Amino acid sequence: MIPLQNSVYKEPAPIVDRENPFESMMQRFDVAAHLLNLEPGVYEYLKTPVKQIVVSIPIAMDNGEIKVFEGYRVIHNDILGPSKGGIRYSPDVTLDEMKALAAWMTWKCAIMNIPFGGAKGGVRCDPSKLTMLQIEKITRRYTANLLEILGPDRDVPAPDMNTNEQIMAWIMDTYSMHMKRTETAVVTGKPLILGGSLGRKEATGRGCMMVTLAAMERAGLKPKETTVVVQGFGNVGSTTAMLLKEQGCKVVGISDIAGGYYNKKGIDLQRALEWITGNKTLAGFSGGESVSNEELLELPCDVLVPAAKEDQITRRNAAKIKAKIICEGANGPTTAKADPILQEMGILVVPDILANAGGVTVSYFEWVQDRIGYFWSLERVNRRLERMMKASFDAVYENATRYNVSLRIGAYILAIDKVAKTLKMRGIYA
Ligand code: NAD
Repeated sequence: MIPLQNSVYKEPAPIVDRENPFESMMQRFDVAAHLLNLEPGVYEYLKTPVKQIVVSIPIAMDNGEIKVFEGYRVIHNDILGPSKGGIRYSPDVTLDEMKALAAWMTWKCAIMNIPFGGAKGGVRCDPSKLTMLQIEKITRRYTANLLEILGPDRDVPAPDMNTNEQIMAWIMDTYSMHMKRTETAVVTGKPLILGGSLGRKEATGRGCMMVTLAAMERAGLKPKETTVVVQGFGNVGSTTAMLLKEQGCKVVGISDIAGGYYNKKGIDLQRALEWITGNKTLAGFSGGESVSNEELLELPCDVLVPAAKEDQITRRNAAKIKAKIICEGANGPTTAKADPILQEMGILVVPDILANAGGVTVSYFEWVQDRIGYFWSLERVNRRLERMMKASFDAVYENATRYNVSLRIGAYILAIDKVAKTLKMRGIYA
């Protein structure tokens, strides 16, 4: 048995504004581990990924030339069940980034009470410079290299940056060919026709809307009197914006990589979506006054939803934020050093590991549906998602109140405690 009490681990490391994602995750982890009085051996265990795999992916290009890409899969922890996490294709993919994202997945699944561990994978490549055929070859070879790791009961990937449902279909097909049977539950985020789930595409934004409403209720904000600014108008940002508007909120600011727009009277979101369909980005959109992405974060509003990328709210701009609530649709939009500034200002921050966990929750629903071979209605998916998002929000809120900490640290405490207790019950096999 592993004792969780009588910790000799006393002081968390001082917080510095480093932008290495693994260190940023570890700084919050350390604060939570300290408050939990986590035994040093358990601390080491939870900090260290279970497996870190690097694979070589040789591909014959269209002219016959061989190019070798590098692929990664990090399984951070599988104490709660099969590991779960996305696969990204990007030139900046590193093992360190995979480690941070895999750990976040462990905490997300634990907070949501999903029987999964955490993983993340990727291939270092620039998909914009590759043909579909080359992307298919990379995907199939990457999958074949990971055959011993993958499986519905072992490790279940999903889409992430620059990967989509077509890529998930190729992973499913390659794995199934080797297993000599169709195995849809090996991956989630698949096309509906191949065992995907209704509601999966909008799940992250829908979950984000749900916890934003829960936070607004705690802060005494009524939807009809609430103004919202959303950074990033992709899958998560646009869905969250549309759904919050449906709930009665007024979305006064939106942005994407090309810049932002502010309209005190409310942005016409439908028009913005149509604009993007025709023009790829918001550049030239006339539905509001043009602002930079930096200015957008500092606009007067009640709720700010950073839903673009990491490291947007830092020690440099945190004090200028006017929102009462920040709901982190993106992964890691706030640096560790900005946390105490926001807390000092009394801003309620719904942390990423809770706010964007709707995606992995509906991925879990997809895995369940594939395994039972019975598919749910959209209404059932959304109802169950709502129940789980609300329950997890309440659990995080109560934990934060009990320990007198931010929702972020409350969320880490909840997750680490759950995984550590499960580890204690299972014991260490030697
Ligand atoms: P996406 O590619 O659909 O959209 C990203 C949006 O952010 C685009 O509008 C893009 O123009 C904008 N953007 C990019 N760089 C920007 C910048 N510097 N400033 C302002 N806007 C910028 O991606 P997504 O799926 O919506 O993911 C957004 C974030 O949410 C990421 O951090 C991702 O890891 C996280 N997330 C996504 C999911 C999901 O299910 N899609 C789940 C969990 C977390």
